[in-house]
Amino acid sequence: MQARSDLSRRQGRKIAFVPTMGFLHEGHLSLMKAGHKRADEVIVSIFVNPTQFGPGEDLEAYPRDFDRDCRLCEKEGVNIIFAPDAKELYPNGFQTYMTLEKLPHHLCGISRPSHFRGVATVVSKLFNIVKPHIAIFGEKDFQQLQVIRRMVKDMNFDVEIVGAPIVRETDGLAMSSRNTYLSPEQRVSALSLCKSLQKAKEMTASGVTDATKIIDATIKLIRNYPETAIDYVAVCDPETLDDMKIIDKPAVMALAVKVGKTRLIDNMMLAERV
Ligand code: AMP
Repeated sequence: MQARSDLSRRQGRKIAFVPTMGFLHEGHLSLMKAGHKRADEVIVSIFVNPTQFGPGEDLEAYPRDFDRDCRLCEKEGVNIIFAPDAKELYPNGFQTYMTLEKLPHHLCGISRPSHFRGVATVVSKLFNIVKPHIAIFGEKDFQQLQVIRRMVKDMNFDVEIVGAPIVRETDGLAMSSRNTYLSPEQRVSALSLCKSLQKAKEMTASGVTDATKIIDATIKLIRNYPETAIDYVAVCDPETLDDMKIIDKPAVMALAVKVGKTRLIDNMMLAERV
């Protein structure tokens, strides 16, 4: 992979990189399209990264369909699929990890304490292997995008990070490989995430600035749907992810909700500029 990227670079070709865990959907494809707009070639990685899963999480059950993924990538004009196996990326003796001091102590990092260490580590490795000029990440994983931006700044990675908007189903559900776990009834309950975010945004637009009020309304709405268990609902500063009490500057609402056994996340900017 490194030799192939060196060659592209020598030929003056700009490389865009889209890291994924596969089981591709329109959200992933939108990142590939964004890559094509900005670069000469698009490289997609497909790797279900074990170090970002905690004990008892869905590493083994995570949906996989490599052949289908290949067909979708081909349709999108992807130049290379990089699909290593776990032993290649984490051989015996592996012991170097990338940790951030602050950002992982918010939102998803609270219930998934080793998750962002795994994400930052694998993304660092993939950057060194794929050698892209730009890398595209979805805003769906908002905290992940901020972690990567921070890591790239702090560690002087020579990669431009591009964030791409959340792609949703027509009824508003944010696309996710994990949506396949949902039963038809749970699929209805999963709409509580985007509906409550929409309501929070409307409250903000109508002049409510008290974050607690907005969070309470969000929690109430989600609890009305069967089989939902809230992990967190937060209104926070989009860069530091620190909680905000009063919405007097740009704010994002982020939430994680278990629907049955499936943990779903979503987010929305409540105020871009105040
Ligand atoms: P994953 O395969 O879930 O690790 O996701 C790979 C990349 O696709 C990440 O940068 C995600 O943020 C992005 N992504 C996943 N779902 C969506 C979505 N619905 N809209 C936009 N980007 C997404």
